[in-house]
Amino acid sequence: RELSAAAGVPGVDILRILMSEGAMATLNTQMDPDMTELIAAELGIVIDFKAPKSLEDEFLDEIRSMVDPEESLVARPPVITFLGHVDHGKTSLIDKIIGMNVVGGESGGITQHIRAYQVDRNGKRISFVDTPGHEAFTEMRARGANVTDIAVIVVAADDGVMPQTEEAISHARAAEVPIVIALNKTDLPGIDFDKIYQQLATNDLLPSEWGGDVEVVKTSATTGAGIENLLDTLLTVAELHEYKANPDREALGTCLEAQQMADRGVMAKVMVQNGTLHVGDVVVCGDAFGRVKSMDDTLNSKLRHEEALPSMPVNIWGLDVAPAAGEHFYVLDDIGLAREIAEARAKRVRSEFLSGVAPTHVTLENLFDRLEGAVDVSTLNIILRADTRGSIEAIRKELGKLEHPEVKLRILQAMVGGVTEADVTLADASDAIVIGFNVVPDERAKSAAEQRGVQIRRYEVIYKIADDLKQSLEGMLKPEE
Ligand code: GDP
Repeated sequence: RELSAAAGVPGVDILRILMSEGAMATLNTQMDPDMTELIAAELGIVIDFKAPKSLEDEFLDEIRSMVDPEESLVARPPVITFLGHVDHGKTSLIDKIIGMNVVGGESGGITQHIRAYQVDRNGKRISFVDTPGHEAFTEMRARGANVTDIAVIVVAADDGVMPQTEEAISHARAAEVPIVIALNKTDLPGIDFDKIYQQLATNDLLPSEWGGDVEVVKTSATTGAGIENLLDTLLTVAELHEYKANPDREALGTCLEAQQMADRGVMAKVMVQNGTLHVGDVVVCGDAFGRVKSMDDTLNSKLRHEEALPSMPVNIWGLDVAPAAGEHFYVLDDIGLAREIAEARAKRVRSEFLSGVAPTHVTLENLFDRLEGAVDVSTLNIILRADTRGSIEAIRKELGKLEHPEVKLRILQAMVGGVTEADVTLADASDAIVIGFNVVPDERAKSAAEQRGVQIRRYEVIYKIADDLKQSLEGMLKPEE
C-alpha cells in the first residue's frame, strides 16, 4: 500500500507483479528490499533505500535544525588556535598571554594534551584552544569538530617561513578560518622583515602593511612586546566576523579531551559553542552521558563554575565514561534518553570497529559516481606532495588547464617532500585525495590512509596526473592495477 502511494501506481498492479513472481501478498504485506527492487524494476521506477533513523539521529536532527532567533544572538568571544613551526614560540606566546605558567598552574596531575582557557582584555574575552600541532588541530576537524574561529600562525622572525609553517597555513586555510600572523622573536637583532613578508606573500598571505588583508603582528614572547597588540588584533578580526551565539538555549559544544581520573571519575574538557551549560544539566557526548556534577575552571582547578557561556572552555565532571576528543556534546532534559543515545552509539562504534569499515573518501575512481549520484561535489580537494618546487609549479600549471562545468579543482596544500600522516589527516578532514609526485608516503601515512579511506596516488609523469583527473571527471578512469 505504501509503495503504491509513493509510486503513484494502483495497488492491484503491484499485487499482480507479486503474484506473477509466485508471491502471495495483500496490500498489507511487508515487502523485503529484494522484492521491492523487483517491483520497482517492473514498474520502471527508481527506489532509494534509506536506513531507518536512529534515536540519536532524530535527536541530533532536531537540535541541528533548531535555529536561534536573530534577537537571541549575542556576541561571543572568538576562539583562537596557535599553529606554527616547532620552536617558533607558540607555547611561550600563550604562556605570556595567560601571564602564568599554566602547566604548573593546573594541579591534580592532569596530563594536558590540549589546553583551553579564556583571557580578559579590557572587559572583552578571548578563548584559546591550544593543540599540540596542526595535526591535532586537523584531527579535531576530521571528527567534525570545528572549534576554532581564528588561527594565529606563529613565525619566528629569525627563521622565517619554514615547511611546517607552510603546512600550518594550509591546515588553517582548509579549516576556512581567518589567519593572523604573529611574527615572533622580534627582539632578536638583524631581522629581515622584507624577506619574511615576501615569504608570506608567496604563500598567498599578503600582509596588510603591503596592501593585503592579512594582519601581521610583531611580537616577542621574551619581552612581551606586541602581545597586547596581538590580542587587540584578534578582537578586531573577531568583531569583523561577528561571532554570535544564543546563551539562552541548552548548551552544545565539543569535547576537547577527556580522562578517567582514578579517584574522581571522568573529567572532560569541553568547549561550549552555543547555549549555556549548567551544573545539573544532563549531557550526552559520544558514547558517554551523565549529569554535570561540577565544573572546574580550566586554568585554576580550585575554581568552580555554576555555568559556562558560549566560547567558554570548562572541565566537567559527571560523565560515565571518557568520550573521545572531538565528540560533540548536547544537553537534553531526559537522562533516560541520554543513556539510550549513548548506548546506541557505543554499540554502533563497536560494530563499525569490528567490521573494520573505513569511511570512504573521494577517490579518482568514485568521483564520477559521486557526481552522478548528485552528491554535492562542487570541489575536488587535492593535497599535493612533490620532489621539487619546480614540479609543483609545473603540476599547478597543468591542472590549471583542466576545466569541468561542475567540479572545481582546489589544491589545499602543495609541498615538497614525502606524504606524511598530517597530509592524510588533512585529506580526511577535507575529503581530499593525496597526490604524490616522485615521492612516496612513509609507513605511518600509508597505514593512516588505509584506516581512514584516503586515497594516495603516486605519479612519475606530470601529464599523467592531468590525464587521470580528466578521465576521472568524465567517468572514464580505469581502476588502478
Ligand atoms: P613552540 O615549539 O613553538 O611552542 O616554541 P617555544 O615557545 O617552546 O619556544 C622555543 C624557544 O624559543 C624557547 O627556547 C623560547 O624561550 C624561545 N622563544 C620563544 N619566543 C621567543 C621570543 O619572542 N624571543 C626570543 N628571543 N626567544 C623566544
